[in-house]
Parts: sequence; C-alpha cells; structure tokens
Amino acid sequence: MKACIILAAGEGKRLGLRKQFIEVDGKPLFMYSLEKALKIFDEVLLTLPGDSLTRVPVPEGVKKVEGGKERQDSVLNALLETEAEVVVIHDSARPMVTEEMFKEVSQLGDYEGKIVAVPSRDTVKEVSGDAVLKTLDRSGLWLAQTPQAFKRKVLIECHFRARNEGFYGTDDASLLERYGYRVGVVLGSFWNLKVTYKEDLQFLEKILSKEF
Ligand code: C5P
Repeated sequence: MKACIILAAGEGKRLGLRKQFIEVDGKPLFMYSLEKALKIFDEVLLTLPGDSLTRVPVPEGVKKVEGGKERQDSVLNALLETEAEVVVIHDSARPMVTEEMFKEVSQLGDYEGKIVAVPSRDTVKEVSGDAVLKTLDRSGLWLAQTPQAFKRKVLIECHFRARNEGFYGTDDASLLERYGYRVGVVLGSFWNLKVTYKEDLQFLEKILSKEF
C-alpha cells in the first residue's frame, strides 16, 4: 500500500501569507497536488494549520492532520497517522507536480528513499556576505524537489533520530542521507516550480492561464 502526504501547514513566512490557500485559476493552491495524488495513491493525508483543520473543505477520503511548528514536525505528525508501506511526501507549494512523477518516484526498487530532482543549470557559487568564496563543481549538483518517496518504517526511524538530536533538514531525504540510507533520484522538471515568493506566484498564474 502507498500513501501520499501533501504538506499544507506552513505559515508562508517568506511570502507573508499562507500560500497554500491562495486561489489560482479558481482553486486553492494545495488542491492542485491533492487532486493528482487522489488519482494515484491508496491513501492521501493533508497537513493543515491547526486553526484551518475544520474550516478547509477537502475531497472525500482525504485524511486531515494537524501540522507542527516546522515542516519536519508536520511530516512526522502525518507519518504517525498511516500504516502504508511506502509514503510519498509532497509540498503543496509545488502544484505543477505530475501523476507520472508521483508514480515514478514511488517505485523504490533497491532504495530506501527516492527523490525527484533536476541537474543544476546555473553555476553555483558559495557566498559569504557579499563575497564569492568559491565555485562548486556543477557536474554533480542536482536541485531537490518533491515528491520524495520512502519506506515508511525507515523514514519514521530517521525522523525520531533527528528529533532526538534536534536536527532539522530542509527535506526528508536529507534525514536518510544523514543516517546512511540509500536515496535514489529520478529526473524531475523545471516546470515543477516551488511557490516561495510573489514572483513565483505570478509565474504560476501565467503558466496556468497559458499566457506563457
Ligand atoms: O516553508 P517551505 O516552503 O519549505 O514549506 C514547504 C511545504 O511544507 C509547504 O507546502 C508548507 O505548507 C509545508 N509546511 C508544513 N508545515 C510547516 C511548514 C511548512 O506542512 N510547519
């Protein structure tokens, strides 16, 4: 059995509002990922801020889970609410995810986890203040996206170990890497953009209205 956790419990600190509820082309942002996940997975969970749990209507069959303080806390809350063998974690801030991405990433093969990512197109610099320290070798650098899929038991173990150490990663795969598990990668897409700032939202609106 495979479950998908859609994360929508953020406070949108960088955008200054809860971006997951912004209506884009007549639908709240989180609904784009949710509708696609419902077509693929046996179980779909949605993390929401505590004060939105009863207020936000969701399609039948979706299990609402109260989010935590940080993204990682929200993931763990939802992980404890499913018994699926494989869990797929997806940020609702990436509404352009495709059904193919969901399917491909959840075929774990020999890996304990698998992520969608894209090779870096840009030259990546390490910077301190306003000074460049060095250029990183681009050939091996990929940009991690979601969805990311995991064996549930392994992911829970990693989350508890991280919690005990007070470690917070910026994605779930980084926890598996930290504790020596193997994480595979499948090619994502630059269309699978993440809405973080206002211009991302403007870009998304243009794509969805086919103005682009
Ligand atoms: O903050 P960031 O953009 O990294 O959040 C990624 C995703 O995680 C968003 O979809 C956000 O709603 C979700 N999130 C969450 N619980 C939190 C923080 C973020 O579900 N406490």
